[in-house]
Amino acid sequence: MNNPLDLDSVIASTREILAQLLVIDVDDIEANSSIVEDLSADSLDIVDLSFQLGRQYGCTLPKTTVLDHAAAVCGDIHEFVNESGLTENGKALLEGSLSAYAPDQLRVGMKPGDVFAVTTVRNWAEQCRNVFNYLPATCPECAGHQAVLNERQQVVCASCSARLTPADGDEISRRLVETFVSAHLEENA
Ligand SMILES: [Zn+2]
Repeated sequence: MNNPLDLDSVIASTREILAQLLVIDVDDIEANSSIVEDLSADSLDIVDLSFQLGRQYGCTLPKTTVLDHAAAVCGDIHEFVNESGLTENGKALLEGSLSAYAPDQLRVGMKPGDVFAVTTVRNWAEQCRNVFNYLPATCPECAGHQAVLNERQQVVCASCSARLTPADGDEISRRLVETFVSAHLEENA
């Protein structure tokens, strides 16, 4: 089924959730604000953000990082992170992930902790929106094909109004890593 979520409205929801969580003015939160560096969120705030976005939209966002999924899929992380930091493949993997890091956001040689530190409001909104690219093929209730937003901005079936749940965020994230590995690294496997 189609993804009816629009990135700007998910960015707006993410800003509102963060304003409440961090007790700051929503106008002080921009799409490109880094959640850790600019907004001083701690790891518990981030767990809360993930939970609240998931509850609002009716999805489960990934709990495991992309690089941890990559380590699990490949058996080790050296294709993506080596002793000097992020590799070209690591950067490309993150840019193609649910969080859709922009090319100017990451650089080769960056430490994995720095990737976490530069993650923005937009990356969180992208992650939430992109999970809805993985809705079921047809509505589980009525086999309808069209997804729409209801008045509460929830993703529902256009025919029967049933709430639609996308695939689990960690399953999607792992699938994306597997696709990347078979497209770019298979010859080394
Ligand atoms: Zn339906």
